[in-house]
Amino acid sequence: MVSDELKVLVVEDSPVVLKVLNHLLSQNPNFIPVLCSNYEEAQTKIETSGIEFFAAIVDLNLPDAENGEIVDLVLSHHIPCVVLTGNFDDDQRLSLLNKGVLDYITKDSRYSFNHVIKVVERLRKNQNVKVLVAEDSSTSRLFIKILLEQYRFNVIEAEDGQEALAKLESDDSIRMLITDYNMPHINGYDLVRMLRHNARFQDLVIIGLSAEGDNSLSAKFIKAGANDFLKKPFYHEEFHCRVVHNLEAQEMLETIRELANIDPLTKLQNRRYLFDDGERMFRKSIPEASLAMLDLDHFKKINDTYGHAVGDDLLQAVAQEVMVHFPDFLACRFGGEEFCVAANEPVDALMPKLERFLEGIREKEFTEAKIKVTCSIGVCGKGFDSLETALKIADDNLYEAKRLGRDQIVTN
Ligand code: GH3
Ligand code: MG
Ligand code: MG
Ligand code: MG
Repeated sequence: MVSDELKVLVVEDSPVVLKVLNHLLSQNPNFIPVLCSNYEEAQTKIETSGIEFFAAIVDLNLPDAENGEIVDLVLSHHIPCVVLTGNFDDDQRLSLLNKGVLDYITKDSRYSFNHVIKVVERLRKNQNVKVLVAEDSSTSRLFIKILLEQYRFNVIEAEDGQEALAKLESDDSIRMLITDYNMPHINGYDLVRMLRHNARFQDLVIIGLSAEGDNSLSAKFIKAGANDFLKKPFYHEEFHCRVVHNLEAQEMLETIRELANIDPLTKLQNRRYLFDDGERMFRKSIPEASLAMLDLDHFKKINDTYGHAVGDDLLQAVAQEVMVHFPDFLACRFGGEEFCVAANEPVDALMPKLERFLEGIREKEFTEAKIKVTCSIGVCGKGFDSLETALKIADDNLYEAKRLGRDQIVTN
């Protein structure tokens, strides 16, 4: 179940700790904390309030339940449970983790509380992460599935490499593959190799499983392109750490990639994106393609009159107009006050849209200073065989539009 606001049960008798957790959870717009200061209150909330809890953060020592009874209560209702404790005890920690507690965190610093929130936030994200488990042993597959579901991952299964490949090919929302080595039809190693040879699966997070005693297998998996491996039998805390660690590394990569392709001021795609992914898309749509370069008129004067900050606001507002008028095309900030629209349709279809854009800009008053601005457009509609030549033609036409007095479109 994925809902916007998730209720997190917090059971803690120390008012200070309760207050801190309440504060930290409330800072996250996805969570609504539900606070209880003893076992009895928690029991009422869980059993009679009708609230569906997303997760619980519990203190082991409560005035009316001093021996961790709260954990059994929470787990018996299938609520993912994070334990907060005043004193670290290794045996207790092991026994709680074996019971199915997600994490055992000691209240030894303020970082502990942030860590608790991080665990709950990870759980929330995991709901949208689809993991494929490829493993021919049904016992082992079920074990892995249960471990993943404890952490709220969305799990699907495959009994061999071939089935795994078919599922990956038909479902592009699968983000992670956990694969055994020894499987019928296609083994785990060959599966990883096949996947990594396909550009589509470059971002798939892959963790190989290898049985104990075969040390060369881990290296083999990594060389084939797996992100990590785990030796069976594994301890569930290590399993979880590796899964999360690899997933977070991948998420970081996606963020960096996004940052590299997006212009921070206008949030439009940038020039780099145009010459990279954009070039491929554009090439595919030739000869049906067309392209326009849009350049604001006398923008330097606006900066000089109102200041650079207002100039920035104006650029953001114009970028917004670009997005609104050309939602189906690749529209990017080419540089400075210049935008580029690469369209996968012929110039006859693009022209009326450009005219409406120009009118829209001309009639609007931008920013608090109610600035009036116009724009010149150079279009390339024919005679090109690449993005590069289309840009060159559009740029020449833009120059011509400026020369002819601005606020107009010139096409070939
Ligand atoms: P024209 O009508 O011939 O296009 O004149 P123009 O003044 O618009 O063109 P010019 O190329 O001479 O000047 C562009 C100006 O855009 C100069 C530069 O300072 C400004 N500019 C470029 N990037 C930014 C930006 O990110 N923010 C702001 N505020 N100004 C920028
Ligand atoms: Mg096997
Ligand atoms: Mg200009
Ligand atoms: Mg310019």
